[in-house]
Amino acid sequence: MVYKPNLDVLNLYNRFDSPICEVDCGQICKQFNPSGKPFCCDICVAVPVALKEEWTFLKANTKLWQRLRGDECPSDPIDLPKLKAETPHYMHLMACKGPDFCERDYRTLSCRQFPFSPYITEDDRLIGLTYNWDFEQVCWVISNLGRVSEQYQKEFLDIYDSLLFEHPSEYDSYYWLSEDMRKHFINQGRGIPILHRDGGFYLLDPETDECTPIDPTEFPKFGPYL
Ligand code: SF4
Ligand code: SF4
Repeated sequence: MVYKPNLDVLNLYNRFDSPICEVDCGQICKQFNPSGKPFCCDICVAVPVALKEEWTFLKANTKLWQRLRGDECPSDPIDLPKLKAETPHYMHLMACKGPDFCERDYRTLSCRQFPFSPYITEDDRLIGLTYNWDFEQVCWVISNLGRVSEQYQKEFLDIYDSLLFEHPSEYDSYYWLSEDMRKHFINQGRGIPILHRDGGFYLLDPETDECTPIDPTEFPKFGPYL
């Protein structure tokens, strides 16, 4: 029998609804995007995904979303077969109507978690949040990790502790993403910023997973946020 995770999408969304920080970060970053959209809401920059269970819930409740066609970014059409091949089988590639039409209650988990992902150590411990390094140059939050609210971090970990327990494939996916991150940061000779579940901020040594406390104002800043 094929394992099916038991997910209550509405419950997950209700438990993970707090803003990342006290300012509307989209109002800041969109000034630096030629399209005038927050980077994570611009399909030409970031393609959202949804668990198949989320899509079942969303299509019954809102017209905000569609499955990705590939032509949503006219200036840079998406290679749909290639992107599908890179996407876990239990997820769909998605497109929303755009930030002018956003419905906060129907944001996917991928919207809510951006730019963060769970960091899982080589010896299988989900120790906290880290970020998607592909967006270092554009995302204001990544350059201002000390501004991320405690409530957001708490909700993030609560959701991913239960989701990754219920959904082992998703756990594996984040384990291998963390492994990719270790390789990338080793190549660059950098530590990995961690918003730890103990409430502290750390730089993690990607060779050993050892964490050193850091004042969050000391984390690197990038792009226009230097
Ligand atoms: S999470 Fe980052 S990319 Fe998204 S709106 Fe906030 S600053 Fe912009
Ligand atoms: S649903 Fe809202 S938060 Fe998510 S990508 Fe679209 S505009 Fe951005």
